[in-house]
Amino acid sequence: MIVDRLGRRFRNLRVSLTAACNYACTYCVPDGKRLLRAKHELPATKLLKAVTMLQQATGIDKVRVTGGEPLVTPKFDEFLLGVMRLPLSDVSLTTNGQLLLAKKDVIAESSLSRINVSLDTLNPLRFKQIARGGDLDTVLSGIDAMLELGLKVKINMVPLRSQNFAEVPAMLNYCLDRGIELRFIELMRMGHLLHSNSFTSEFVSMESLLDSIGEHHEFVRTDAPYDSTAVRFQIPDRGVFGIIANESEPFCRACTRLRLSSDGFLYGCLSNANKHYIGDMLELPSHLVLPKLQGMLVQALGDKKLAFQGEVTVMKLIGG
Ligand code: SAM
Repeated sequence: MIVDRLGRRFRNLRVSLTAACNYACTYCVPDGKRLLRAKHELPATKLLKAVTMLQQATGIDKVRVTGGEPLVTPKFDEFLLGVMRLPLSDVSLTTNGQLLLAKKDVIAESSLSRINVSLDTLNPLRFKQIARGGDLDTVLSGIDAMLELGLKVKINMVPLRSQNFAEVPAMLNYCLDRGIELRFIELMRMGHLLHSNSFTSEFVSMESLLDSIGEHHEFVRTDAPYDSTAVRFQIPDRGVFGIIANESEPFCRACTRLRLSSDGFLYGCLSNANKHYIGDMLELPSHLVLPKLQGMLVQALGDKKLAFQGEVTVMKLIGG
């Protein structure tokens, strides 16, 4: 097994099916830009082979399907059904939810049991301002459809000081009422935010979030798994919420994540632009792939930082 001096190893793989997205969220995409697919994206068969090889090379046992927006690509169905057949302990999906109704049947067929939907607001106008694409009601209907299918749903919200921070109590109530775990993601210093004043003005810390929630609810901190990115809190008799507090309480020292981009690059760290191309080795027979892959994984593990410093890399490219 490949382990670094902090005892970190790769256990969770995030696979970006495509860099394309039907949204252009203000904090993810610079003004005037639209997200297109990467130039040489791998087909579902190659991405599935990569998952199998990575599982053998490094003991990956959890996979998250992400993007870009994973539901916009035609390879979604084949990849989801294929990855669900692999001997993994957990498969999950992260989506903006816009196409959940359209993909309901294949999701049901796959037996996927949990899903994360990114949703920053319950206000239709603000939704248009932040996501710059899609439609709020369609997302809410998609969430209802997933709950009806019996999936465990989590919602990811990025609180932004001037845009949706005041909505934190309403979002939390919406989730608690439906048995959904809300996860706040502290704004990350990535892509165009790395050198922008808007990072500082829009950032909402864990402390501010807890102050805001504390005005409405009593809560206690609960245990989270060793390599969980979220700090979790229990509201007695109501439910749980989490905060991915990459700035306030960084999780880098216990990070077990590895990312595979849609065009075949491995990324060992969100806070490091280093990448390692594995697309060409997927043509080789498996026994030749493994030793090459292991060498590359040692390098990717070495890319992991001790603290999140931000990077020019963008979530949608490397798999948020
Ligand atoms: N399209 C899918 C979705 O919306 O969930 C998957 C990709 S998206 C890049 C994954 C997550 O990254 C979303 O929850 C999004 O809000 C988050 N994200 C993107 N840029 C971010 C940033 N700078 N800081 C914090 N979260 C960010």
